[in-house]
Amino acid sequence: MALVTTKELLLDAQKNGYAVGAFNVENMEMVQAVVAAAEELKSPVIMQTTPSTLKYAGPDMYYANVAAAAKKASVPVVMHLDHGSSFELAMQAFRAGYTSIMIDGSHSVFEENIAITKSVVDACHAGQVPVEAELGKVGGKEDDLDGGNGGYTVPSEAAEFVERTGVDSLAVAIGTAHGVYKGIPKLDVDRLSQIREVVSIPLVLHGTSGVPDDAVRECIRRGICKVNYATDLRIAFSNGVKEYLAENPDVFDPKKYCAVGREKVKEYVMSKMLVCGSNGRA
Ligand SMILES: [Zn+2]
Repeated sequence: MALVTTKELLLDAQKNGYAVGAFNVENMEMVQAVVAAAEELKSPVIMQTTPSTLKYAGPDMYYANVAAAAKKASVPVVMHLDHGSSFELAMQAFRAGYTSIMIDGSHSVFEENIAITKSVVDACHAGQVPVEAELGKVGGKEDDLDGGNGGYTVPSEAAEFVERTGVDSLAVAIGTAHGVYKGIPKLDVDRLSQIREVVSIPLVLHGTSGVPDDAVRECIRRGICKVNYATDLRIAFSNGVKEYLAENPDVFDPKKYCAVGREKVKEYVMSKMLVCGSNGRA
């Protein structure tokens, strides 16, 4: 089917108490893996690319890949811009055909975050494309994104932010971080519940690679409707390739070793769709 937007998917997730997994893809094999996982579990799915991924190949290339996979897929697929770092990049993705856009103004002060988010919301809503924003800072480092030590989302600010920007979903900072965790992250789930009480739109959890599955389930119970996984997909793909090449050092056909990486990503994505509870929801 054609690509869908995050609007209906996340509202259905919110209504029914599950979350839709959003998986960062870097190449064709990862796109195929995510779609295959979604089809096998009859799950809706979001695929997304960060600014550094788009610097590597450009929104048109990733859009074409994901749109082609979605067209053949039996489940709803979204193409989302993850951590849009500027109005210009958000518009590039929008023009390329992305069906969901994140603008991340969380590194700016409150009023500036509102201003840039509102400008992207106004532009994207003209084309019926929903927008995700971020308030508070998710810590850690995800490719070019350095969130530093993080600053948690303040519930009253979240309410004002959503009201003034008209944004469709909100990424919250409750203790998760991008990249690889050094220990087990401690999440402020009470803060999540407080945000949920004053904000009615779907909430998004970033930096979920490495967060224990039970903690993710608890967050979903408390209002998270979209869960982002990036780092662990990269690790799964690379481990598959590395293991295959270590055992078969003479192989030079990328199809041989990429197929192993693809299988590893599919297994990982399926396990996380079950954590999100999105299986059977397509
Ligand atoms: Zn993120």
